[in-house]
Amino acid sequence: NSVSADFSATIQAVGYCYTPYKQKFGIPRQPGLVNARGFIKLAGALNDPDSVRGIEQYSHLWILFSFHQNLEQGWKTTVRPPRLGGNEKLGVFATRATFRPNGIGQSVVRLHAVNNENGQVTLEISGMDLLDETPIIDIKPYIPFSDAIEGAQGGMAQQAPELMRVNFTELARNQLAQIAQQAPNQALEPLILGVLSQDPRPAYKKKADDPKMYQVALYDFDVFWKVINNQIHVIEVKEGM
Ligand code: SAM
Repeated sequence: NSVSADFSATIQAVGYCYTPYKQKFGIPRQPGLVNARGFIKLAGALNDPDSVRGIEQYSHLWILFSFHQNLEQGWKTTVRPPRLGGNEKLGVFATRATFRPNGIGQSVVRLHAVNNENGQVTLEISGMDLLDETPIIDIKPYIPFSDAIEGAQGGMAQQAPELMRVNFTELARNQLAQIAQQAPNQALEPLILGVLSQDPRPAYKKKADDPKMYQVALYDFDVFWKVINNQIHVIEVKEGM
């Protein structure tokens, strides 16, 4: 199904967002839930220091982006939000679903630095809920006096999700110690803690004892984990296939 009359504004990427999240499974469902670092590289005519002049005065930015990996599957007028166990249907506009008309996502992220090296303008950010290499449609300052609304009603999404306890096997701890020596700035262990404490499993699969071995891809590593007695156990961390 197509959206109503085409208003023929072609939308181009103003940049691309690079994050530790190489696959959709495991990405936090909203920004600010996991403090992972990432960066936006501006592209084309907007890869120009003038386009971000003064942006460092803001602590946070709104980024509008394309759910580019979902565009081909199209969208439906109603969706089944994972938070409601995947049973109940809500209108697509009553959710932050990733299959949407025009496929546009919106996230507020923390801005850490603006770099301009060898002709590439890069914004260092954190807290994003984006797949690696997501096309960015627009970047805007977060303006607290108008964007932070005291007492706003968040409906079914009033609270951040409950966090699960995350344990590491001896093997996983040793593997992480070795990886930390090779790539200290990736802070892989806190990233694994942040991502897995959100329990990335779909709501209808959240059994307290789950025989399945799950895997999330973070940076170039595959993290294997299971759920035993309602706690997450990281079994091992391996270089990605
Ligand atoms: N905060 C945004 C919003 O409100 O529009 C996104 C919320 S959406 C529930 C977050 C999820 O989008 C992530 O957990 C991930 O599964 C998915 N996602 C992130 N980047 C994507 C991309 N480039 N293509 C498709 N899905 C993506």
